[in-house]
Amino acid sequence: MTKQVFQLIKNEVRRQKETLMMIPSENYASRAVLKALGSAFQNKYAEGYPGRRYYQGQKFVDEVENLTIKLAKRLFGVPRVNVQAYSGSPANAAVYFALLDPGDKIMGPGLLSGGHLTHGHPKITFSGKYFNSVQYQVGEDGLFDYEKIERQALKERPKIIIAGTTSYSRTLDFAYFGKIADRVGAYLMADIAHIVALVIAGVHPSPVPYADVITTTTHKSLRGPRGAMILTTRKGLLKDRDLAKKINRAVFPGLQGGPHENNIAAIAVALEEAGQKDFKQYARQIVNNASCLSGELANLGFSLVSGGTDNHLMVIDLRNKNIDGKRAALLLEEAGIIVNANSIPHDPRPPLVPSGIRLGTPALTTRGMKEEQMVQIARWIGAVISGQTNPGKIKQKVEELTKKFPAPGLG
Ligand SMILES: *Cc1c(COP(=O)(O)O)cnc(C)c1O
Repeated sequence: MTKQVFQLIKNEVRRQKETLMMIPSENYASRAVLKALGSAFQNKYAEGYPGRRYYQGQKFVDEVENLTIKLAKRLFGVPRVNVQAYSGSPANAAVYFALLDPGDKIMGPGLLSGGHLTHGHPKITFSGKYFNSVQYQVGEDGLFDYEKIERQALKERPKIIIAGTTSYSRTLDFAYFGKIADRVGAYLMADIAHIVALVIAGVHPSPVPYADVITTTTHKSLRGPRGAMILTTRKGLLKDRDLAKKINRAVFPGLQGGPHENNIAAIAVALEEAGQKDFKQYARQIVNNASCLSGELANLGFSLVSGGTDNHLMVIDLRNKNIDGKRAALLLEEAGIIVNANSIPHDPRPPLVPSGIRLGTPALTTRGMKEEQMVQIARWIGAVISGQTNPGKIKQKVEELTKKFPAPGLG
């Protein structure tokens, strides 16, 4: 059986090398990140926080967690950081658990408007079931209308406002969200899971001056292990020390047991990498690549939600192409181009067979691809979706291209 598992790992490595990973939340972690992730820290129980643990043997665990916190504080310019949340969803749950009581009102972006399930999606998620969730939506143009969101917030008076998205291709106006939260007396939580690399590089405005709390995953554009961080700012609805204390208590013992210290060590490696000069270059190129790709796709007659992109991703509305998002994603997979089917705003079709696909450039950029490759890839996408070219033929070309751009971390 073990042999079978390692064969499957080998197959997955090959798949990741030979395909174009265009799901905007995916990336290639470096060899150093993978090494820390597979290290002996994995064997250690460390309930509690550095200097205040429940078990013995914590000398190096404490040092590594303190190091990770120090790197995160420096990189984001915030006074407090929790690095123990297991992933993005538990991080968001911890913020709500820290700041709200069950039944309190939360206000976040709707799923079809680019929000995440944890932003209060009704009925089927904890955030929609245990809190009184109201959601704001994009308009017909696919854009957030901040004045409308402000009016809604003034009417609803939520205790927390969530600003952050998973399939919105435009710059978020965190300053405006901050103004709304101030007027309503609400906390502002910015969820930068997708755009964290752009924020670090200054390619997207930072929420640090405006949000009380910022959550981010570490495995998307940041290129770390699967995990999350919760940053507390000095914005001051609550003093950062008190706010951070509530958040730490919510993570442990509120929601979690032992932290994954191997993950935390790997986050430190990713943060160190994100502090280097070439990381800024990477983040800028992600945006340049997305801008080029979306322009080429528009030239080929594709309709983009909101008309284009400012960040790392785009959502294509396929209704003018006579194909649904699932079918398009399956065809592209046959061509070695991996994307996900995605709902479009006000989508008339169901989530499993929606009207759109979502694609992004972080992983391709990590491989070193630039505008020239984006132009080529846009043409391939056009040829596959229009049925002009057999996907198998494109797959051969994709494999040739991927050979020229080795995937970091996979050897
Ligand atoms: C990915 C994502 C999450 C959830 O992260 P997981 O690690 O998948 O739980 C939360 N918020 C946003 C905006 C995301 O994009």
